[in-house]
Amino acid sequence: MELRKDPITRSWVITGDDVEVEPEGRDSCPYCPDALRSPHVISSMPSLDGGPWSARAVVHPHALYHIEGDPLRQGDGLYDKMRPVGAHEVLIENPRHDRHLWVATDAEVAQFLVLTGQRIQDLKKDRRLKYVTVFKNHGTVAGQEADHPTSQLTATTFVPRRVLYELRSGKEYFTQKERCVFCDILAQEEQQGVRVVESRGDYIAVCPYAPRVPYETWIMPRNHEASFERSVLRGGSARDLAVLLRRTLQRIRTITENFHMVLHSSPNTMHRSDVLDYWKTIDDDYHWHIEILPILEKKAKSYSFKEVYFTPVTSESAASRLRAVSIP
Ligand SMILES: [Zn+2]
Ligand SMILES: [Zn+2]
Ligand SMILES: [Zn+2]
Repeated sequence: MELRKDPITRSWVITGDDVEVEPEGRDSCPYCPDALRSPHVISSMPSLDGGPWSARAVVHPHALYHIEGDPLRQGDGLYDKMRPVGAHEVLIENPRHDRHLWVATDAEVAQFLVLTGQRIQDLKKDRRLKYVTVFKNHGTVAGQEADHPTSQLTATTFVPRRVLYELRSGKEYFTQKERCVFCDILAQEEQQGVRVVESRGDYIAVCPYAPRVPYETWIMPRNHEASFERSVLRGGSARDLAVLLRRTLQRIRTITENFHMVLHSSPNTMHRSDVLDYWKTIDDDYHWHIEILPILEKKAKSYSFKEVYFTPVTSESAASRLRAVSIP
């Protein structure tokens, strides 16, 4: 595997001729506490109910990025390439095989969120790593890898494309207005209310004004904060987020079982880049959020042509339908 840079969009891709990996069956779940072959554990959260642990991070069994060595950034004619140096971890959300985020207790979800914050904080100590991505693919059409409730984490020597776009826009908006674009969006959404799904304590779930897919939903802190780990590692804050995340996923699951979920948070600011120039005002101009992108199988065809996103459900209708779901 190697990283190659698209010279036109300046975004990195990871490519190589992959070896097909056999999916692992239920009897040999590698993430259950009693797994036959125990994975390489990086970090565990203490148990809440006398079990072995409540959430844990392990090395991905088929890691795309490896922590050893130098990225060896080099030219190839007009192109750029580098070795995939970084980290690739599986975040086990719960020790129980069937206890997904939407059926877990709020305390369990909070443990998973704190673990995630700790992993990001820890990986950012490595100056080579510019960004930590946390994502979850759930459902067969979403590319789910394991039956066990898990998310994945990758730490990379570059900032992924979508986040880079957001960082650039956030900085531009701030340069003009000296305000955070996300805070401005939230203020307008809270005032209008039509695209708000729910708000809980410090957090809010909204359907974005220009959705890429039907029922796209973002969860964000209502008060300005650029860094996810700072939010969740601040005492008590993970609990409100856990409640809202669980409830929002319950709502989404009344529409579809398949979804992608990704965290967008500030990059490693220890690694100051004069070229990208995003770090100077980042604590003021960027605002972390979680994006949930549901996949509607029967609608997939109509919006698969992604040159221009086509979304056959407006965010106002989406928010109204998601709000109407009664959550116990
Ligand atoms: Zn399992
Ligand atoms: Zn903000
Ligand atoms: Zn985002």
